[in-house]
Amino acid sequence: MSGDGKGPAPGSGAHPDDYKGYREPLLSVLKENGVTVWCIVRAKTTKGVFEGLILPRSETADPYHLVLKLGSGYNVGLRYDTIQSIEKTGYFRAEYRIPEQEFPVDPAKPRVKLFGTGGTIASRLDYRTGAVIPAFSPGELYGSVPELADICNLETEKLFGVFSENMGPEQYLVLAEKIGEAIRAGYDGIVIGHGTDTMHHTAAALSFMVQRPPVPIVMVGSQRSSDRPSSDAAQNLINATWTAAHGPIAEVMVCMFGPTSDRYNLLHRGTRVRKMHSSTRSTFRTIGDIPLAMVENGKLTPLQEGWAPRRDDREVEIHPVFEERVTIAYYYPNMHPDVIDALVEKGYRGIVLAGTGLGHVNRRLYPALERARDAGVLVFMTLQTLWGFVQMYVYETGREILGLGVIPLANMLPEVAYIKLGWALGMHPDDPEKVVELMQTPIAGEITPREPHDGYLVFQGGVPEMKEFLGRIWS
Ligand code: ASP
Repeated sequence: MSGDGKGPAPGSGAHPDDYKGYREPLLSVLKENGVTVWCIVRAKTTKGVFEGLILPRSETADPYHLVLKLGSGYNVGLRYDTIQSIEKTGYFRAEYRIPEQEFPVDPAKPRVKLFGTGGTIASRLDYRTGAVIPAFSPGELYGSVPELADICNLETEKLFGVFSENMGPEQYLVLAEKIGEAIRAGYDGIVIGHGTDTMHHTAAALSFMVQRPPVPIVMVGSQRSSDRPSSDAAQNLINATWTAAHGPIAEVMVCMFGPTSDRYNLLHRGTRVRKMHSSTRSTFRTIGDIPLAMVENGKLTPLQEGWAPRRDDREVEIHPVFEERVTIAYYYPNMHPDVIDALVEKGYRGIVLAGTGLGHVNRRLYPALERARDAGVLVFMTLQTLWGFVQMYVYETGREILGLGVIPLANMLPEVAYIKLGWALGMHPDDPEKVVELMQTPIAGEITPREPHDGYLVFQGGVPEMKEFLGRIWS
């Protein structure tokens, strides 16, 4: 019997949640072994024996892995074709539902729209219970992060349910249009939940597609899922929502953990931000500049000037276009010219080179670069060093490459240049001169006049970590 005395009992194999999130081929493996979600099991596999609790699977996850929570608290994924037998040793049903609570509406508070695209933040939001359920209705969000109701009136809309490697131009265009609609409908700020891996690509795309927004557009994700005690999901969401509702900066931004402690979040400009660490929570860093601001406990401290302020009007320019035949070629020593030739032959219309040092590639590529130019393919230069400016007049190599028609892009980050090129070619499909002009004209901070003299060294570390570290050395 289920908890309410009606319908089949959970764990019987007949309850609707018994195989939650599992599809074939794993569904048959579970059924054949007589186990369900929340069974404590001993699984024999070709890789060893694992003991743990079968967890429900996120709807966006792949269908091949059985997820066990081990005694250590860590999760392990067992591939279906390595599983030899599963023996049930117990049953423990964790609270799975996020309590749906009516999101309290307060007419005095700002209205914020949250668009969901997927990623870890969308699939595991309950930081108190550790439930692994996609939480997206306002009621579910309120149930898992009640602080949100103190900040604003939140309305949510799930646009996609994908991990961010599956985001691309198709999704960027929808997002840009939706943001335009939300701005015109009068929302005071916009939050976009997104996987962290390609959040900086989407942030760049939105910075070009949504121009002169009157309100903050804040992207947010989480590095650690909320079933782990160290999750950053709730803090990031609270600070991002506060920034959208009350913050003074009307730009496309990323709001993620600042230091490794949970003291504050940083707000990064959408065209200067990059994911720099695969797992730490403080993974997003502003490159070539310092972040726009710090946000903590309902307080925003600007760290630099020159940002676009919030406005009362509802005007915004939406340019949802993207030419997909663009690419990045990351230079490596001894790169062969056929790599560039192949791109030209395949019909690519634009190539962003990520060159060495001040913007270099080897001589061997020169004939291919010439062939690309003659075929009308636009080739741009950016830097692998990420920090600093392309300066092609310093060495002979740079001057030679300029002579082959390669166009320098100052301190635009390679991924940002890739996104901007796709967008610029979409804006001017038949006018290469206009594309080049647009590429070299900063429109959303993607090229800056200079780096702050201490920018490279300040804010790459966090407070209090830097203080503690230096304190240990100098004590
Ligand atoms: N792989 C995930 C994604 O980018 C990671 C995350 O959500 O943070 O969608």
